[in-house]
Amino acid sequence: MENTLERIHADAMAALVSAADADVINDLSIQYLGRKGHITQFLRKISTLPVEERPQAGKKANEIKRLLETEFKNALDRLANAGQTVTDRIDVSLPGRVPEKGSLHPITQITNRICSIFSQMGFDVVEGPEVETDYYNFEALNIPKNHPARDMQDTFYVSDSVVLRTHTSPTQPRVMEKREPPVRIIAPGKVYRCDSDLTHTPMFHQVEGLLVDRKISFADLKGTLTAFVHQMFDDQTTLRFRPSFFPFTEPSAEVDIRCVICRGKGCRVCSRTGWLEVLGSGMVHPAVFENVGYDTRRYTGFAFGMGVERIAMLKYGIDDIRRYFDNDYRFLSQF
Ligand SMILES: [Zn+2]
Repeated sequence: MENTLERIHADAMAALVSAADADVINDLSIQYLGRKGHITQFLRKISTLPVEERPQAGKKANEIKRLLETEFKNALDRLANAGQTVTDRIDVSLPGRVPEKGSLHPITQITNRICSIFSQMGFDVVEGPEVETDYYNFEALNIPKNHPARDMQDTFYVSDSVVLRTHTSPTQPRVMEKREPPVRIIAPGKVYRCDSDLTHTPMFHQVEGLLVDRKISFADLKGTLTAFVHQMFDDQTTLRFRPSFFPFTEPSAEVDIRCVICRGKGCRVCSRTGWLEVLGSGMVHPAVFENVGYDTRRYTGFAFGMGVERIAMLKYGIDDIRRYFDNDYRFLSQF
């Protein structure tokens, strides 16, 4: 009994393998599973078997019946797919997959924004070398040999007289040596310091500004930086000038803006003070003018500098400076 079923199954499979088209498969299906098919006939004959064999035979026959049904169906499907070309299988009504677009790094975007604001005010964008001589990085900017800023812990020395610039300020004497006043420049670029934590990275970006002309006063400095902050953040942002010290400016001032996160109420970002330091600035020190041969009786000027990462952190509400340099696609794709 079992042998009969196995033979029917084997014959059906053999016939199916050589079946060339759907008609042949449909004929085979009738031949085996139809009303007068081999399996149906076998099932009818079960009643003639000894009683104890009947359940087993019925079970086996139904099993083979289901197997063959599946095999015939699969064979028909395979034939249908093989007959199709690739375009038949593409659903042109589906929405397409949009290619990922790149974008400028947030630091580049903010640098461009800063430069564009100052360009509108008539400043030229200039760049200086990142590997700088001790003279331009320190000496020309009135930073004497014993100044703490020269400490080995802050400065990357390439040799005794060559450093990786610690600020963008060396651009000031470099430009002033080549140009006569009036000078209006903005100098963006990378700077380097031996420092690394939540708010410091060994490489970061600064933008330096310098304006030299006749009758330039601290009022011009305040007006220029106020106009900048109002364009960079919004015109409701209040500024505060705090007396400070830089070797290359006198008087010097740190510029704070009212916290853009809490609007001055006090929060974690502004250390509960309501103010955020964003710029260093001041009137150019006469010693710097003398180093480049400018007449200090005719000309005065102001200079300022800011950290681009700092501005970007405040602008976008980012809490860890290292995110800018992790190259994490999830972070960068938000800008
Ligand atoms: Zn705050």
